[in-house]
Amino acid sequence: MGLFGKIKAGLSKTKASISDGIESIINSFTKIDEELFEELEEILVMSDMGVKTATDICDSLRAKIKETGITDPNEIKKLMHGIIVDMLGEDTPLKLDTKPSVILVIGVNGVGKTTSIGKLASQLKLEGKKVVLGAADTFRAAAIDQLGIWAERAGVSMVKSVEGTDPASVVFDTISSAKSKGADVIICDTAGRLHNKKNLMDELAKINRVISRELPDASLETLLVLDATTGQNAVNQAREFKNACDITGIILTKLDGTAKGGIVVAIHNELSIPVKFVGVGEGIDDLQPFNAKEFADGIFDNGENE
Ligand code: GDP
Ligand code: GDP
Ligand code: MG
Repeated sequence: MGLFGKIKAGLSKTKASISDGIESIINSFTKIDEELFEELEEILVMSDMGVKTATDICDSLRAKIKETGITDPNEIKKLMHGIIVDMLGEDTPLKLDTKPSVILVIGVNGVGKTTSIGKLASQLKLEGKKVVLGAADTFRAAAIDQLGIWAERAGVSMVKSVEGTDPASVVFDTISSAKSKGADVIICDTAGRLHNKKNLMDELAKINRVISRELPDASLETLLVLDATTGQNAVNQAREFKNACDITGIILTKLDGTAKGGIVVAIHNELSIPVKFVGVGEGIDDLQPFNAKEFADGIFDNGENE
């Protein structure tokens, strides 16, 4: 399956929810009126765009319809496609300008941090980069072992310590190892539990202090991992983490098999954090750089022959 096919397959449920929903509304209206807008808004809310983003999209749609003088409901899909692409803005790839650069991966338990690190390490390695992983989720031994398995799969090295070690000290060791090996990219895993949020945020702050002390001029990406299947909950997590750290991007996982892909749009629109990658499965190749147009095409099913 090609890159676009994979995204489309991953988005099939989101598409069913948004595109088919819009289609059936459009087919039941012969003119564009307020009732039509209300039904559209409901579909968008149901796909987890959230009330604010759904309202914003419909407001833009009203303005566009007024501006263009469109009267045929069939034109609406194309207009919405354009509005969503605009809302998602420019795609922003990873900024890894220094040697080494650092990617810190954060997020609550179970969202897919460790898995995404394995996938990302594999991609960077295939691009010819020397990658070192840091097993700074020291909360459980199993978490360290899991990252170790991914390091092996991706063919990259990993720095670890024993369970319970101060995560910041693992990050320190990882940076030292990366420096001595001449590595290009460091990717650090972290633990994440919300029920002790203060501990977690203190831990992240301490890790950040180590990074800025040891590598003051390095490119630093702080990627927040969110599980798309949790819908609006994921948007709330992003809001909380945004208050505590400088997030540079989102990895949105488990987009395969959920109807809640609409949160991509909500995250951009409400929090102005770019989605940089999407996870579309559990395999090593199932991480794709996010592309706004491809995403919109995937939802509206009009990308095949463009
Ligand atoms: P962590 O606790 O944040 O490190 O999460 P893990 O990386 O351990 O992942 C938790 C579970 O989610 C594992 O069973 C992964 O295989 C699964 N997972 C991660 N990313 C994806 C994805 O994009 N799609 C699917 N279907 N499952 C995923
Ligand atoms: P339980 O869910 O109440 O049984 O608590 P846990 O067993 O998850 O955690 C017990 C204690 O370990 C908490 O009170 C925290 O101080 C600490 N802890 C839990 N999760 C984390 C984590 O992800 N990172 C770190 N550094 N400490 C944690
Ligand atoms: Mg993990």
